[in-house]
Amino acid sequence: MSERASTAVPSEFAIELIGLQKSFGHVEVLTDINVGVRPGETVCIIGPSGSGKSTVLRCMNRLEEPSGGVVKLKGEDVSGSNVDQLRRRVGMVFQHFNLFPHKSVLDNIVLPLRQVRRMSKADATELALARLADVGLRERADARPASLSGGQKQRVAIARALAMEPEVMLFDEATSALDPELVKGVLALMTSLAESGMTMVVVTHEMGFARTVADRVVFMDKGVVVEEGTPEEIFDRPQTHRLRTFLSQVL
Ligand code: ADP
Ligand code: MG
Repeated sequence: MSERASTAVPSEFAIELIGLQKSFGHVEVLTDINVGVRPGETVCIIGPSGSGKSTVLRCMNRLEEPSGGVVKLKGEDVSGSNVDQLRRRVGMVFQHFNLFPHKSVLDNIVLPLRQVRRMSKADATELALARLADVGLRERADARPASLSGGQKQRVAIARALAMEPEVMLFDEATSALDPELVKGVLALMTSLAESGMTMVVVTHEMGFARTVADRVVFMDKGVVVEEGTPEEIFDRPQTHRLRTFLSQVL
């Protein structure tokens, strides 16, 4: 058994934040965040703009370094692990897609596979085409991102993340930049991914998605988790004034 495996404590959680704290300069933006996501669960994070939702996701794959607390994957503290390997295990989908504009759709998926997973060109191409087929974009493999709709770009970004075969997928307002008529297709893809058993943490303003797809919902405000519960508990029986106020503004 490797040293790392022997020191990791078995965990019921695929990913877990324990006492997570984050400051930018002297400003504390996350205070004592404790969230655990079980394998196969979809957890939605909701809350007002500026409440710290993106920072929580970014700490999960170390796009931000936590200032305090621990991030665990399968019970293992990831603070000492290689960032590339961590990002392979924890995929992320962004509001603005983050595709390479000067590369083809196919290369947007193939190049990270070659770099991070050290795959041969042939294997990476085969895998990339399969993931593109999954999101209905196999025939656009040679296109440039600029020629795609926002919804298609986001599906490419999801295919790219899935090609890494991550243990957890993070979505940061994946539909917020899309024209309204394109939102549905991306939400349908995220729903089928959740139903397929992927472990997902989804920051979203789509309350319908949170209510119907989430196993649990986390409500954040001003850098703290204010409430956490099932969709029924959060949406039908909010316990705090802050959550009731938020829901009255978004529903
Ligand atoms: P949300 O995603 O809920 O809108 P964020 O996590 O983006 O919130 O931001 C939480 C707080 O942290 C905000 O006050 C924001 O201005 C601040 N913040 C986020 N990123 C940075 C950064 N790189 N430097 C300084 N402040 C930041
Ligand atoms: Mg955000």
